Amino acid sequence: MGPASKSDDHTATATLLPEPVIVPRSEHSISRKQFSPNAVKVLYRLKDAGFEAYLVGGCIRDILLGLEPKDFDVVTNAKPEEIKRIFRNCRLIGRRFRLAHIVFGQEIIEVATMRGHHSDEGKSNNISQASEHGQLLRDNVYGTIEEDAERRDFSINALYYSIEDFSIRDYAGGLAAIRARQIELIGDPETRYREDPVRMLRAVRFATKLDMGIAPATKNPIPQLASLLENIPAARLFEECLKLFLNGKAEQNFLMLRELGLFKYLFPTTERALNASTDGFAERFIQQMFANTDARINADKKVTPAFIFAALLWLPLRQRAEALVEKDGMFAHDAYNIAMNAVLSDSAKQVAVPKRFTIGARDIWHLQLRLDKRGGQRAYRLSLQPKFRAAYDFLLLRVESGETELQSLAAWWTNYLEKDVTGQKDMVKSLDERSGPRRPRRRKPRKKPDPS
Ligand code: ATP
Ligand code: MG
Repeated sequence: MGPASKSDDHTATATLLPEPVIVPRSEHSISRKQFSPNAVKVLYRLKDAGFEAYLVGGCIRDILLGLEPKDFDVVTNAKPEEIKRIFRNCRLIGRRFRLAHIVFGQEIIEVATMRGHHSDEGKSNNISQASEHGQLLRDNVYGTIEEDAERRDFSINALYYSIEDFSIRDYAGGLAAIRARQIELIGDPETRYREDPVRMLRAVRFATKLDMGIAPATKNPIPQLASLLENIPAARLFEECLKLFLNGKAEQNFLMLRELGLFKYLFPTTERALNASTDGFAERFIQQMFANTDARINADKKVTPAFIFAALLWLPLRQRAEALVEKDGMFAHDAYNIAMNAVLSDSAKQVAVPKRFTIGARDIWHLQLRLDKRGGQRAYRLSLQPKFRAAYDFLLLRVESGETELQSLAAWWTNYLEKDVTGQKDMVKSLDERSGPRRPRRRKPRKKPDPS
């Protein structure tokens, strides 16, 4: 790495960041060929219009770590309106952070204007706002690159690639953190978590994704501050959950979220079920579900969030339904219906799972109650249900986690799915024979139309 040189065009910022390190092109291995051509186009267009432009964040970090970047984020000193004037294919989005999206067919290059400090006197209050917990509500104060770096979450995410001289600019010790493989917050950890408690979830996600440790000063305050997640909108927590559960590291994320006391603020009813389970079934069930999810993702197979949320809430659902059967003498079917509504609406207070996934989760749950009813045409009809495959996988997961009483049912379905139509009919026939002659279905007596 190159010698440290002080950037000279800005005066000191409010907190104490290390001396900036500027690594010239001759002393690092990142080349423009590793970037998306569209991102390079955006950088040059901004530069040619007289603005500063940098690639920043995940893409530089990932390339330095030998990983394939997911996307390419640009920062510039051009204001959103100025960006809009430069690019025809530009959309301005966001309220909390105003951003420009430059659209190239499938690919979107996100261009942000460098952010500055919020506490600056004389700035009007409507561009930056904090809540009583210290949480940032709006954040549209613009600033210099040093200020922009200081506002980012982790030092590894505050590395910039300049299109002006192709140097890498490190304002927060990110290169050293990459060498030490440490996730470390920029600035005072407690303040930074209070500003945005989601950073606690991001610390976990980056640690597992990048196979790094969390620096002690960044890790230690998390259990005490975990409850701040209660102030985060449930829709945002849903988005974070998807990132945590669909990135191929869900099992590790789950274990670390629990270890740090974060999981209970995402899925409190599941946490209680996990703690109450004395035979280890609950833990095996959730952990196995995440292990299977990771295996599918890493094999490029489809994963539906409906399955994950169905599994996460299965234990609380079952407890609740069983209590209704035992205490109130309800039919299982009715008890499950009531319990599904209760469990879903409870959980939605923390994590707002969109309806298209809760519908899927309900289907998977309903099918758990029906998979043993296979006589006559039923097996065939079940197999045509849109969520049948997921429900079958769910059944296998239950067996895998220790519900041995379901083993023969699961084996029956596995066998059934391998057979052709004739084989399937034979299987159902022998099932029907074993269970004796089927009772003729009783028709409902037809009601006379109500004269009133
Ligand atoms: P990936 O996209 O691989 O998950 P990333 O680092 O690109 O990782 P993004 O969520 O895309 O993560 O954010 C882009 C950059 O914006 C980050 O690298 C970081 O510098 C900054 N950033 C994102 N979220 C926050 C936050 N909550 N607080 C401070 N900075 C943030
Ligand atoms: Mg990104």
